[in-house]
Amino acid sequence: MQSITIKTPEKENITLYKETDGLWYCPVCGSLELKLQPRTEEGGSFEMCSCGFEFGFDDEPAASAQAVRGVVSNWDRWRQMLILKFRHQPEELNQLRLQLAKIGCESASTSPYTHRTNGG
Ligand SMILES: [Zn+2]
Repeated sequence: MQSITIKTPEKENITLYKETDGLWYCPVCGSLELKLQPRTEEGGSFEMCSCGFEFGFDDEPAASAQAVRGVVSNWDRWRQMLILKFRHQPEELNQLRLQLAKIGCESASTSPYTHRTNGG
């Protein structure tokens, strides 16, 4: 696994992971399936993960009515939605936890990234 760290316009440091075969891990659900780097310092890739998250849209406060301030906050927001969605599906929830552990998130209820306040 390789990792790169980038800085978002809101000065968040985010670490993204990829495998040597070129696929990227989804920073929201941990699934190894993205063909493009999900996020660069310029913005999102506009690729959609199977978890439903579209990079560059669902993490752009100006693009989506549901989005909150900050890239990482939106990843957290979506991850919490997934956990809620799978709360009665132990196998899916376990799979999500395993995927998240791979990208440094030991518990699906916590974020591997720095929490920032919404800021209104
Ligand atoms: Zn995903």
